[in-house]
Amino acid sequence: MKGRATWDVRATNFAKKTFNPIRDIVENMNITPHPDKPMIALSIGDPTVFGNLRPAESVVDAVVDSVRSGKNNGYVPATGTLQARQAIAEYMTCPGAPVEAKDVIICSGCSCSLDLCVSVLCSPGSSILVPRPGFPLYTTLAEGFGCTSKYYNLLPEKNWQVDLVHLESLVDDTTVAIVINNPSNPCGSVFPKSHLRAIADIAVKYKIPIIADEIYDNFVFEGEEYHPIASVHPELPVLACGGLTKRFLVPGWRMGWIAVHDRNGAMQEVLGCLRTLSQRIIGSNTIVQGALPDILSKTPQSFFDDTLKQIQVNARYCYESVQKMPGLTPILPQGAMYMMVRINMDEFPEFATDLEFVEAMVAEESVFCLPGKCFNIKNFFRIVLTVPEETMKVACQRMTSFCIAHHTGQKQTKIHEDSISNSIQTEEPTINEIDESPKTNGNSANGYHINGKTNGMHEPTHRRINELDVEPSVKNPTGMNEKLRSCEDANVDDLVDDMECD
Ligand SMILES: *Cc1c(COP(=O)(O)O)cnc(C)c1O
Repeated sequence: MKGRATWDVRATNFAKKTFNPIRDIVENMNITPHPDKPMIALSIGDPTVFGNLRPAESVVDAVVDSVRSGKNNGYVPATGTLQARQAIAEYMTCPGAPVEAKDVIICSGCSCSLDLCVSVLCSPGSSILVPRPGFPLYTTLAEGFGCTSKYYNLLPEKNWQVDLVHLESLVDDTTVAIVINNPSNPCGSVFPKSHLRAIADIAVKYKIPIIADEIYDNFVFEGEEYHPIASVHPELPVLACGGLTKRFLVPGWRMGWIAVHDRNGAMQEVLGCLRTLSQRIIGSNTIVQGALPDILSKTPQSFFDDTLKQIQVNARYCYESVQKMPGLTPILPQGAMYMMVRINMDEFPEFATDLEFVEAMVAEESVFCLPGKCFNIKNFFRIVLTVPEETMKVACQRMTSFCIAHHTGQKQTKIHEDSISNSIQTEEPTINEIDESPKTNGNSANGYHINGKTNGMHEPTHRRINELDVEPSVKNPTGMNEKLRSCEDANVDDLVDDMECD
């Protein structure tokens, strides 16, 4: 018999395996702000939402001109226009790592760049090495292909540098790539050249290419230096992923790229296949491609300096402030937009996990930070530093009150290495992050359904943890809905709450 007897329409395993645990974590958290205190979301990794950081005028003008010219409305090559690729090649070229237009693939945001890199390298049974703590997208992308993520540790007591011995120990016959994220989300760390070289040496020793997530290129504070990893070793093949998103403050414009640093022909097949893969999505939008030569060459240095200055002011203030809070140990960032804070859990016996700590801070002080769990590390939380200075001050005051109210025992001023290594999870969790916004709109596991903009868009939904939250398997013994939720909720990004900040 042809066809099916019933409408048994199935999604692919690939689609079902694609899922976003950060959303899962956040949606299953009890994020109920204090009714008398406006929410301060130090959780949202989108620098545009607070209104204090805006793109450069010249960048906006370039896009307006691009639209008005009428020249950028048609189809262009799937890898991007020659002019745009040339502009990226010039932008990415640095001493020791020349890039030509033919080495560039233009993508719809850096996430798409990473997607293509994973697609071209990861097959069933392979593995990639990814940072912990780290951005969870790498794992999400790899898992769809049946590729395992293995987590190499970053060391908080060494400014989150890579534990090189651990990294090397994870390399085996299945390893197809090492993912490096420098500067780092969530750590705000910036690797010195010598450290990048040490990582490169390991990659070259075992002939493993690097996928470099360099979306925070040049996003480093005063006195720090940014080095693309491709520039530190002449024999290291690198797929360098970048874009306008963070440095130019335009995440919604979806402009990202891959610069392929081929070394001795090692990446020829991969480069060819990246070009083929780009035909699946036909690149980034042509309006921004048309504006790219101006954006990349004419944005005044003062724009970058001003952005970084604001973030650095927040970083210093927040670091000093958190240092004084009993029970917390901040790790000073050198760049990007984030700071990680260690919770000395022994000093907060009320809370069993970072998640509980973060939930209580929302409930009592309406300050929301993402728990370390979202980045695969225990006993930390991440603070976003792109909020207005005044908001940061209020947030710090409230966090101080919270810590004083719940802290017991002596403030530990020094990080104990034992407790740090204990905070590194030993199991292999699968977590990813795409959307970092707080969701107060509930979820299907809890009897809520996200469909359309109906659930708590403007006022917090007062959710309580119930037994379904802690025991999803009771309701859902197969775990199927958990996996499917990411497909169902594909439009959940539209539901970002307006978190008011005073
Ligand atoms: C924001 C971010 C990205 C994704 O950027 P898009 O260009 O918006 O896709 C990739 N990697 C890291 C570490 C990020 O923080």
